Amino acid sequence: MPDNQTDLNTDGLTRAELFKNNDGLTYNDFIILPGYIDFPSDNVDLTSKLTKKLTIKTPFVSSPMDTVTESNMAIAMALNGGIGIIHHNCTIDLQVAEVRRVKRYEQGFITDPLVLSPTNTVADVYEIKQSHGFSGIPVTKTGKINSKLLGLITFRDIDFLSKDQWSTILVEQVMTPINELITAKNDLTLKDAYHILQCSKKGKLPIVNSNGDLVSLIARTDLEKNRDYPLASKDHRRQLLVGAAIGTRKEDEKRLHMLVQAGVDVIVLDSSQGNSIYQINMIKTIKSKYPDVQIIGGNVVTQAQAKNLIDAGVDALRVGMGSGSICITQEVMAVGRAQATAVYKVAEYARRYDVPVIADGGISCVGHIVKALALGASTVMMGSLLAGTQEAPGAYYYQDGVRLKKYRGMGSLEAMNVCTQSSAASRYYSETDHVKVAQGVSGSVVDKGSIHRFIGGYLYTGIQKSLQDIGYTSLDKLHSESYNGNVKLEKRTASAQVEGGVHGLHKYEKQLF
Ligand code: GDP
Ligand code: GDP
Ligand code: 5GP
Repeated sequence: MPDNQTDLNTDGLTRAELFKNNDGLTYNDFIILPGYIDFPSDNVDLTSKLTKKLTIKTPFVSSPMDTVTESNMAIAMALNGGIGIIHHNCTIDLQVAEVRRVKRYEQGFITDPLVLSPTNTVADVYEIKQSHGFSGIPVTKTGKINSKLLGLITFRDIDFLSKDQWSTILVEQVMTPINELITAKNDLTLKDAYHILQCSKKGKLPIVNSNGDLVSLIARTDLEKNRDYPLASKDHRRQLLVGAAIGTRKEDEKRLHMLVQAGVDVIVLDSSQGNSIYQINMIKTIKSKYPDVQIIGGNVVTQAQAKNLIDAGVDALRVGMGSGSICITQEVMAVGRAQATAVYKVAEYARRYDVPVIADGGISCVGHIVKALALGASTVMMGSLLAGTQEAPGAYYYQDGVRLKKYRGMGSLEAMNVCTQSSAASRYYSETDHVKVAQGVSGSVVDKGSIHRFIGGYLYTGIQKSLQDIGYTSLDKLHSESYNGNVKLEKRTASAQVEGGVHGLHKYEKQLF
């Protein structure tokens, strides 16, 4: 038994001691020793810095990959206190539209409702009902949003019509016309809108502007579904925060300009090896043209790489090379670094300049997130962990009775072939290359349900409980105590890792939440 404070301090390793031999360590190669608990886990505050100027309430970032982050993912990430980075394996117009959808999103308001024109037929309503599952459809002059609202058609207006009438009866003949409709102006709050819906006993409340043009819709069924998101990441106008990835070529400047016009908050410079003249020039261009836009540079894994990007003016660094679940960079290029070492080394350097670090790739469980944070990362970027959620792009499919979604590396041949004129592929492929050399694979991940339950519930609570075990009430405290050498770590031998996993059972089922 240690008999004085000095001896107690020698139990376990500080971060510096863990890495002093310059080994390439992964998250699995070490463990965090428990501390002292004198608070409930609900009290643990996960607020953290994404960039120099942006602070978010949960340390979760979704990766700019075409099987991970489009607007649905980015909205869900921001509602739960994190942020999504919209991928760029698509045309500029598509990426900009996705950013706009996030910035326009208002909780409870359907801001892009399906709309019909008066000359559509009842058959069109049935088709929408069949393909989308709802039938409360506003009718506007042009059949589009932001056009004069003329009425509303619901299933009750058409359910007694016989099938042979469907294609001959027009929407305007059966809809509830505007003079009989309860609508609300677009300056009301969600609470007021719900009050109107409750009192009127109607199913839908179309929201119009002062010209009578439809701007959004509220559904009664969402009254109960709509949870409050107290942690949501929002800008000063109370719009959700969103990031977007771009490349570092000349043509990416146009993409950048359009994204800034659409209101993007953060730009991620998407290079697998970020320490290049191209990225440094792009950082300088962004800083001079759009000083309010926060820039995440990378990827880097060494202090020398980090130095160049910090000197050029980045607001955060994305750390990781070849550690992602779909990556084959380390194998093919013989370049990269073990992720725990990369995070520790870069964070150690970047903190001197107050530049937050994002640990990107190789996160496959709650424990990995906590270890990345304990090593100095402020946030974590995830691909595979989020790709199986409802909010990730793409449809579920079944294989061998298991419900799956596609997940692929942005440097996989499949992703590089999608759209070679788009710039995401240029992260791994330059148009001067004669042969594409894959740095990633295509695969699938298991269904994880909704991100709201997964991130907002499981990951968030899991990290709170982990920090409680370590003995800290906030991520800030974990960082400062880790730098002070008070968070104690220990290397795990191969057999310690086996012992730390499930072992010795004939059969088991691992259900996490
Ligand atoms: P309905 O009465 O058949 O229209 O269906 P409900 O009101 O019961 O359900 C509609 C659900 O679909 C609500 O949760 C809406 O938020 C959701 N929804 C999503 N997009 C749209 C849309 O474009 N129009 C309508 N009417 N609902 C939508
Ligand atoms: P090399 O000629 O095959 O060595 O490669 P390049 O000079 O074309 O590119 C070197 C790396 O920098 C590749 O990963 C490129 O995708 C990347 N890169 C990023 N921005 C640019 C750019 O503006 N021009 C070029 N040529 N490459 C860029
Ligand atoms: P994951 O969370 O799945 O372990 O890793 C996701 C991260 O892997 C991404 O954020 C990105 O940095 C990286 N990545 C995505 N696609 C590829 C690829 O094709 N090759 C490599 N080397 N890395 C990739």
